Amino acid sequence: MAKNGEKQQATGTPELVFGGVWKYDPAPESTEHFTIAPRYELFVGGEWKAPKTGKYFATIDPATEKPLSEVALAGDKDVDAAVKAAQKAFPAWSKLSGEDRGRYLFRIARILLERAREFACLETLDNGKPIKETRDVDVPLAAQHFFYHAGWADKLDLLFPGQTPEPLGVIGQVIPWNFPLLMAAWKIAPALAAGNCVVLKPAETSPLTALRLCEVFQQAGLPAGVVNIITGDGKTGAALVRHPGLAKVAFTGSTEVGKEIQRAVAGRGIELTLELGGKAAHLVFEDAAIDQAVEGVVRGIFFNQGHVCCAGSRLLVQESVHDLFVQKLQRRMARIRVGNPMDKNTDMGAIHSAAQLARIRELVAAGVEGGANLHQSACELPKKGFWFPPSLFTEVAMSHRIAREEVFGPVLAVLTFRTPEEAVEKANNTSYGLSAGIWTDKGARILWLAERMKAGVVWNNTYNRFDAASPFGGYKESGFGREGGRQGLRAYVRLAGGLLPG
Ligand code: NAP
Ligand code: MG
Repeated sequence: MAKNGEKQQATGTPELVFGGVWKYDPAPESTEHFTIAPRYELFVGGEWKAPKTGKYFATIDPATEKPLSEVALAGDKDVDAAVKAAQKAFPAWSKLSGEDRGRYLFRIARILLERAREFACLETLDNGKPIKETRDVDVPLAAQHFFYHAGWADKLDLLFPGQTPEPLGVIGQVIPWNFPLLMAAWKIAPALAAGNCVVLKPAETSPLTALRLCEVFQQAGLPAGVVNIITGDGKTGAALVRHPGLAKVAFTGSTEVGKEIQRAVAGRGIELTLELGGKAAHLVFEDAAIDQAVEGVVRGIFFNQGHVCCAGSRLLVQESVHDLFVQKLQRRMARIRVGNPMDKNTDMGAIHSAAQLARIRELVAAGVEGGANLHQSACELPKKGFWFPPSLFTEVAMSHRIAREEVFGPVLAVLTFRTPEEAVEKANNTSYGLSAGIWTDKGARILWLAERMKAGVVWNNTYNRFDAASPFGGYKESGFGREGGRQGLRAYVRLAGGLLPG
């Protein structure tokens, strides 16, 4: 990652340098580049507007702690202007034929793919996740969500036979920092396909790809006000979800904030979907293909530095293979390359923020204090930035905080079980219920287990696989409502007439 100093400009705080030109490839001979503006305004009514607060805040590269750009801090009046812009756009957008709405979505998907490298690099810089992942997962999957929903835009009546699906109105959407572009696509695409308009607030620490997506909307000729993106902090999110002009709130983030939003929405008669935290059980049986299971477990917990709501953070291994499995896992962990996220060979990048690093350290210290056995890969971590090595705890009890609380980092808690009944009991012994994984050779056992696991997604002999056609969402404190597939679209329509239940 080399910066071309010439185009950098200083704004805001004098000692900080915002914006600049970045190379796609860190190799010295590489010349292809993309730019980051020194400052980003709010995207409201199809235009860039300065915030009425007059305030801006920095977003940094967590791998170097260097500022990337400063973005607008939206206050109550800005939130109001964004909702009004969406309300203004709604009548025309909702009356457009499904075919025409689909055309816009197809165009957005195609442009996103054309600009895939730029989006992958920007996401890696602003978030800290490895370029291998943004290139192969985040960006293609974000485009897939637009393609997939483009295909449904003119076929909604087939999805809900005998009923007339109608758009809800203006949707307020608040997303977290762990998959910034993907979460934006995941939320915006179904809302638009169903004829709604959107006001979206990205997370404070990773706003740049959602802002660049606005450029794609402009390029695609999307009518002004159909999507509005307002940056800010938790207060901005709180102001958005409280706005009386919304017909629905869609939130992805922590269980704590999810509960607050549920209170804010209570009694208003509007729709709400919540995608919250998780503490997924990842089950390995003695008859599993052990080496493949090791790969699956590594993908389950170390993908995206463990900043994944559905991360397989509680490994349950059948007692008879525990020692062998842990030994193989430790050997595999030693080969995980941690470092510069822009390097194509990097497997694990930077922890997203200082606050998240502090939380991971606190929970790991609690694990050690509680008597669990900590194993960390010996890897050299960069001096600047936020880093944590791949970590694994054995001798874990269900009562340990590391077995109950979401670490949201590269930390795996290993427990054991003897029988399938005990595995199910331990897997379900959590306040969460977002996802689970099963590794076994027996198909009948998979079906038996999948029926009993209280989790929205159950992966079998694989983990962390996503598809726009597959509904995703949780039980218990992991939230409610589904995103993706028919169920995801159901959450963005009102069903009028007909005899069938939605
Ligand atoms: P978070 O603190 O809940 O923040 C999520 C979003 O909500 C951010 O945009 C945040 O703004 C905003 N926000 C904060 N306080 C708010 C309030 N009172 N009212 C409205 N909005 C508010 O979560 P996070 O730290 O970004 O993300 C980590 C959590 O998200 C984890 O627990 C993880 O499991 C969960 N997650 C769940 C899923 C899923 O699909 N189930 C997916 C990804 C992440 P600021 O950024 O400015 O604080
Ligand atoms: Mg950042």
